[in-house]
Amino acid sequence: MINRIIMALAFLALASLIMTSSFAELQRFQHPAKGDGSLSFLVVGDWGRRGFYNQSQVAVQMGKVAEKLDIDFVVSTGDNFYDDGLEGETDPAFEESFTKIYTAKSLQKKWYTVLGNHDYRGDVEAQLSPVLRKIDSRWICLRSFIVNAEFVDFFFVDTTPFVDAYLTDPDHTYNWRGVIPRENYLANLQKDLELGLRESRAKWKIVVGHHGIRSAGHHGDTQDLVDRLLPILKANDVDLYMNGHDHCLEHITSLDSPIQYLTSGGGSKAWGHEFRDYDKDAMKFFYDGQGFMSVYITPTDAKIVVYDVFGQVLHKWSTSKELHSAI
Ligand SMILES: [Zn+2]
Repeated sequence: MINRIIMALAFLALASLIMTSSFAELQRFQHPAKGDGSLSFLVVGDWGRRGFYNQSQVAVQMGKVAEKLDIDFVVSTGDNFYDDGLEGETDPAFEESFTKIYTAKSLQKKWYTVLGNHDYRGDVEAQLSPVLRKIDSRWICLRSFIVNAEFVDFFFVDTTPFVDAYLTDPDHTYNWRGVIPRENYLANLQKDLELGLRESRAKWKIVVGHHGIRSAGHHGDTQDLVDRLLPILKANDVDLYMNGHDHCLEHITSLDSPIQYLTSGGGSKAWGHEFRDYDKDAMKFFYDGQGFMSVYITPTDAKIVVYDVFGQVLHKWSTSKELHSAI
């Protein structure tokens, strides 16, 4: 009898262990910081146009800044291949818009990449395929994942499935393979992100998605993310939210939390002259042209610099953790 009880208890313990581990945790990558305790990276989005629309010129300037900062990696905020993502794993656009464009030695680092809405219009799973990593080992593209970089944790979030409007978009077809049933997908993603953020002990938490939560550009705020993603970010002390989607460069501060919103969507074609009225207290910087950003970060300080297509510095912003905790 006692044996049976022990066996039943052991079975229950095992079952709960299996249940806990089947709680699909987001895949994690480890990225070491530099020996001096710092980390540098570039942020670029909305770029893959076979070098056209100044993609190549932005790439040249990225190479120069990357060399100067000795960057550790690149963050790509999505819309990686225009107009309709990749056709498949062997689509030459991968090499024509990525490998053959970002050729500087300083850019031969890992590219941590999320998907954008344009990527969902093609064979979305092709961009996630290990085949691409064999063609170019820099390419790390998953739907949602975490990069632990010692004192910074990065949370890459697949934002396209959050946007209701794509489900009824009459002009484009989206490839929802791997996402349907969507409500399950979103609920799991929200749960996984919440868990990852809550468990993070890093000094800095940075979230990366394609769509802007706050933006004064053409698309403006993404209400679906304001409703379903922002509360998780606010509740878990996220420092920065970085995105593309609007083809501009912007920095919006939060008036009700420490979150800074950074749009880096100037990797190639810019729209120009598209600017919405925005709260003047929240708007720190807006530029409706091409370019990219750099981030230099230590356990106590972060410095963000915005560059245009000529490599000119347009905006700088710094913050300190010690300052925050002293207030
Ligand atoms: Zn987009």
